[in-house]
Amino acid sequence: MIQNFDRMHGLPDGFFDITTANIRSLFPNPTLIQLDGQDNNFLFISILLHGNEYTGLKVMQRLLAKYADKLPRSILLFVGNVQAAEANLRRLPEQVDFNRCWPGSLMEPCPTSNMMRRIIEIAHGLPLFAAIDVHNNTGRNPHYACITDPNLRNQNLAASFNRTAMVYNHKGVCTMAFNDICPAVTLECGLPGDETGIEHACRFIEDLLTLQQIPEEALSRESLHLVESHLNLHIAEHVSYDFDPAADVDLCFEKDIEARNFTLMDTQQVFGYTRVDRPISIIDTNGHDVTDEVLRIEQGKIFFNQTLMPAMITRDKLVIQQDCLCHLLQDYLPHHDVEF
Ligand SMILES: [Zn+2]
Repeated sequence: MIQNFDRMHGLPDGFFDITTANIRSLFPNPTLIQLDGQDNNFLFISILLHGNEYTGLKVMQRLLAKYADKLPRSILLFVGNVQAAEANLRRLPEQVDFNRCWPGSLMEPCPTSNMMRRIIEIAHGLPLFAAIDVHNNTGRNPHYACITDPNLRNQNLAASFNRTAMVYNHKGVCTMAFNDICPAVTLECGLPGDETGIEHACRFIEDLLTLQQIPEEALSRESLHLVESHLNLHIAEHVSYDFDPAADVDLCFEKDIEARNFTLMDTQQVFGYTRVDRPISIIDTNGHDVTDEVLRIEQGKIFFNQTLMPAMITRDKLVIQQDCLCHLLQDYLPHHDVEF
């Protein structure tokens, strides 16, 4: 079984007027749209893999309005989880996460992963210049790119978005499915709809429409600070929590915890407070629980056992339940072996 998706050649009328709330009036199903441009090396762009992350839609509306009939480069645009977008949710409760089920995923094959496999087959059948997956964060974060393969092309592509970029290894993300096919990055463009994020992604993609070649030069740490994510931090089920140290709950954090995003925390800085034994679980990219190696609790205070950089901290309880509270980053080291 494969999940239904539609294919279009050219933009449907009304594309520039839709919002996520009425997106299914144009795109009742996930939709792959081929847009022909002068240079036939396609840019693959995926938007709305997470339904409430609508910056990608705004970016494509703005860019395609500008380049209406004279697109410098062909685009293959995948409009992802329209059902969740309509409901302004990352995904519907009964759905799998649209950015965890691409080829390379560890999950059991399902209609949605079969659809993603087919999308990759179609894209792979075309000459591809690069693949860009546009996302938002649910917390306050700088804009940054994520790459799953830290080869030099991907590094250069990431560095042209921001000087800090993340190497990540979550199985089944869209960007990973393009490894060995073409350069690929995930763009994290701040909060959904944030104007600076829309503008930033527009400029980035616009440059790719006319760029002849993605550079392959080695970059200094000043040009690109690469960090990596091996660890996801989850709040254990049935643990009550709040973002207020005075709250009467099992686990609490400072109100401004989002200010910790992309800052290093050493082994003596307090990450949170708890009155229960195991309020948090930390899972590595292989799915192993490494909580006891990574953190310790002393007199109700939570500390990390080594310097780590929290990122993508969210205070949105639904996202915390469906995804995680945050990721824990370290400086990327080539051929770095995970020690946890
Ligand atoms: Zn996302």
